Amino acid sequence: MTMAENVLILGTGCAGLTAAIYAARAGLTPLVLEGGQPGGQLTTTSEVENFPGFVHGVDGNELITNMKGQAERFGAKFAWDRIDSVDFSGPIKKLKGGEATYEAKAVIIATGASPRHLGIPGEMHYYGGNGVTTCATCDGAFYRNVPVAVVGGGDSACEEALFLTRFASKVYLVHRRDSFRASDIMVQRVKNHEKIELVLNVSPTEILGDEKVHTLRVIEKSGAVRDLAVKCVFVAIGHVPNSQAFHAGPRGRRRWLFRRRCQHRQHQYPWRFCRR
Ligand code: NDP
Repeated sequence: MTMAENVLILGTGCAGLTAAIYAARAGLTPLVLEGGQPGGQLTTTSEVENFPGFVHGVDGNELITNMKGQAERFGAKFAWDRIDSVDFSGPIKKLKGGEATYEAKAVIIATGASPRHLGIPGEMHYYGGNGVTTCATCDGAFYRNVPVAVVGGGDSACEEALFLTRFASKVYLVHRRDSFRASDIMVQRVKNHEKIELVLNVSPTEILGDEKVHTLRVIEKSGAVRDLAVKCVFVAIGHVPNSQAFHAGPRGRRRWLFRRRCQHRQHQYPWRFCRR
């Protein structure tokens, strides 16, 4: 029978690797599982300017490779797998992956997040190389001297729009409201940039093209439809946590708490019943 791991760490982004370094230095010999995107989101970016300790910035891949090497140096073990379901009910946690089943005394979940999608027609058809993307730093350079659109009103959308002005002839920043979630300084930079046109109070309804994207269709509050001629749509509307495999855990805990409360109430009011 296999021994349970002391610590199982899920995810090899900054959070997972930092946990791996600390757990390994504590002598716990953690097993670290790399998921669908080994190295996490930092591997999709080029230069990281705001990570402390690097005066002139650092390449995202290099930073992650160094963190992994640092964890390995102290004894962290690495394997690739994707966890589908978990059973956290007992003292030994059980996790079922595509490659194997794991047991661990403690689990650190650092599975990060994935870009949120608009869910409109055309989006997934053109996603990944044909004119829809969620990463300006990865794909911006492919759209030189052509118009592009960024969707979103947060800091990511503003940052992507500003980054894309290096390449694109024009950048439409498409947002569903007329005020921004982004910080003031980013909004001012966007508003002041001659290559950026704000398209506000609209909702994207469809992405059209032939082999590649040629139009982002939006609908205004009045109901009027507007077509923006663009070669690429950069979707920057936030992220969703990669927590699907763990839904049973919190729900299980909520149910457990509810049962406890019910037992308590029934003790006080024996004629009342709790509904599950
Ligand atoms: P946010 O959640 O801050 O913003 C998401 C934006 O997308 C919102 O404007 C939202 O609109 C819009 N949106 C969400 N869903 C839809 C939809 N279905 N259709 C159209 N629009 C939609 O996410 P970010 O990724 O921008 O930022 C996440 C965090 O990271 C923030 O805390 C941000 O400050 C930070 N960050 C900081 C940066 C920096 O300091 N340089 C750079 C990038 C991010 P609405 O406003 O109407 O809800």
